[in-house]
Amino acid sequence: MPRKKKNTASLRLHMLSIFIGFFITLGFLYYVYPYHNFSVEAAPIYNLQIVTPREQIRNGGEVQFSINMAQYKAGEEMEVGVKYDGRKLRLDSVEGGEVGQVAWNEIPSAEGEKRFVITANPLGQTYDAEVRFALVRFTITDTTGETNSDGRGFTELCTLFNPDTVQPTDPVENPTQDPVVQPTSVPTENSDSDIPPPQGGQVVTPTYPPQPTRLPTQNFDQLCVPLNVRGSSGDKLDIVVIPAHFSPEQYDIFLQYAQAAVDDLIKTNLTDYDEEIVNKMNWYAFNNTVYNNRTLSFDEAFYDIGMNQKPCAADRFLVIEHSSPEEVEGWAFLYVGGMVTTGALQVYNPIAAHEWGHFVGGFNDEYDEGGESEELPNCTYDGGSLSSRQDPCPEDQPLCPDDQMPAENRIACPKWDCNQRECTPLEQLMYQDVGCYPRCYNSDGFRPRPKSIMDTQTIGAPDNFVFHGPALVHLIQEVFANYR
Ligand SMILES: [Zn+2]
Repeated sequence: MPRKKKNTASLRLHMLSIFIGFFITLGFLYYVYPYHNFSVEAAPIYNLQIVTPREQIRNGGEVQFSINMAQYKAGEEMEVGVKYDGRKLRLDSVEGGEVGQVAWNEIPSAEGEKRFVITANPLGQTYDAEVRFALVRFTITDTTGETNSDGRGFTELCTLFNPDTVQPTDPVENPTQDPVVQPTSVPTENSDSDIPPPQGGQVVTPTYPPQPTRLPTQNFDQLCVPLNVRGSSGDKLDIVVIPAHFSPEQYDIFLQYAQAAVDDLIKTNLTDYDEEIVNKMNWYAFNNTVYNNRTLSFDEAFYDIGMNQKPCAADRFLVIEHSSPEEVEGWAFLYVGGMVTTGALQVYNPIAAHEWGHFVGGFNDEYDEGGESEELPNCTYDGGSLSSRQDPCPEDQPLCPDDQMPAENRIACPKWDCNQRECTPLEQLMYQDVGCYPRCYNSDGFRPRPKSIMDTQTIGAPDNFVFHGPALVHLIQEVFANYR
């Protein structure tokens, strides 16, 4: 997720960031795949999306989640578990979505944590596109006060889990044991990368103690392990990957995740722009075993080291937070730095590459975040001749073939229309299939393509791992223009 370029936020921004943190964690980046892979033999894949507009999310108010289902084959069982923080949410209702009626049952839980399982009768119909399985309504009743000065602390309000993995336990007899997520298998959709298996069954609850430390002067070569170094720091955009919640003993595991984050870009069309973009970057891994040989908290890794110390000559940084597999999260500050969880690196969707689009490209999300108006490289507020505000490719419809887009949406917004303004040769080339589609960062914005990597990354859409023409132009002509 997007936003401020500095962490020196006003009180107003501070409050805003609480809600942003909330939204991001639970929003579209908070996909949770309950340990199924993507093969056709698998059960349906579920993910969780927040429905309530961000600006309406407040303590005491209502919050709605949509549980969506993809890759459903006729006759398959439908069953998904929902876990939420009973100290922060009160369950109001569970309704069936496009699949019809659902039933739900609470199951015994550890203290504070609440769980229920939603089931529905198998359908005679196959769904290729993503459909809503259920709508869950909560009231936010948070009296924990669990936020820090950065507004984080709403993580894991509500997640999905695979009911098959539940070990029934008596929460009274075992009050300290977490009976919920005991993954028996690992997502295998990215088995061709070197992602190590997650720590079996370990549920990592991140804490954010305010304990800033100063980076001691250290030898560059010791502190900065090269991941992908292509030339002198003076010529390249240098990116450092920083571990959070990895112990010194887990440094090798961190390095594999760091490499996976770099390799996330290979899932996108940036592979067609090696000379213009990819080869102009150096990637380093920050070495906490040399730095102080202990586990870095998230705040140390992100704010103290990434934002303030800028080790490894870094122009940008990415924090990888060691998490449980079901914590799928990523967010970023534009042109500054970002974070992904190891859970995010275990799903097929290139979330690290999406965040790269924020912290390197300066792009905003192309879905409706409800944010304030802001003209950004990938969004515009001038829809030109467009008369309809109907989005022909809404977020909940992953498959949006070009030939089914209305003609008027295929005319570029004025910002990208070389008939209406002067274009560079690169723009002429890159804007060829650019159109104008309502919804970009907020409901007033327009995006240039029906789908892109900065839009929802729902499975199945042909464009959704793609940096579109306007994004590439910005990267090549602006961001990377002065690197070699
Ligand atoms: Zn984003």
